[in-house]
Amino acid sequence: MHPQITVDTARRLSHLDVLDREVAEITAVPIGTIRKWRTGARRGARNARRADCPRCTGRPLEEPAYSYLLGLYLGDGWLTLGRKDVFALNIACCDDWPGLLAAAKSAMAAVMPMSKVFSVQRIGMTEVKSTSKHWPCLFPQHGPGRKHTRKIELADWQREIVERYPGDFARGLFHSDGYRGANRVRRNWGGGDHWYEYPRYLFTNNSTDILWLCGQTLDQLEVAWRFSKPNTISVARREAVARLDEFVGPKY
Ligand SMILES: [Zn+2]
Repeated sequence: MHPQITVDTARRLSHLDVLDREVAEITAVPIGTIRKWRTGARRGARNARRADCPRCTGRPLEEPAYSYLLGLYLGDGWLTLGRKDVFALNIACCDDWPGLLAAAKSAMAAVMPMSKVFSVQRIGMTEVKSTSKHWPCLFPQHGPGRKHTRKIELADWQREIVERYPGDFARGLFHSDGYRGANRVRRNWGGGDHWYEYPRYLFTNNSTDILWLCGQTLDQLEVAWRFSKPNTISVARREAVARLDEFVGPKY
């Protein structure tokens, strides 16, 4: 056993990149012990990295950002497994909407602050990415196959966050798989056809589970909606569109 002050001195020297051999000389401790203390300290540093995962460590999660990111993930996101058990969270962003790309980046950074966010340019779109071993902790929906071919269910803790921040979740869904645009309708009166334009929202997804998650959230926000096609939710009533504009709004 060595006195704590010797251990501390050796670690401090190692931290300053002093060679193990020199630290051993200065502290009169065998070099093997110095090495063990140094790598032990590294292990400590790795633990600090693990401390980034809110699920594994109990670190508070940035819930509004997470609710938004979950919406984006369910719409246009996926996890890929890379080298050394590191996962990448990927969100596909259309290049027509630079504001949404920036919003996706900042949500990722807020949820997993120690992971760097970067992007890869594809044709007409950009993939925003962040790598961590712990993305599956945050998106337990990850699994083999496309999302619409498997059951998508929120974990209890995810449902609680979505219920606390339904507007952020809806914004994430509509920013990924949604659309806000003009609907043209024809009405015949006074002996002629008249065209009217009004804004509406559409949310299209091939997963029935994700469609229902969207519908439940719209219910919670008191936004009237209906299925306009089997894979499409439509929000078209004037007051419903105005209400959803408070949370989503046009793409930008
Ligand atoms: Zn974790």
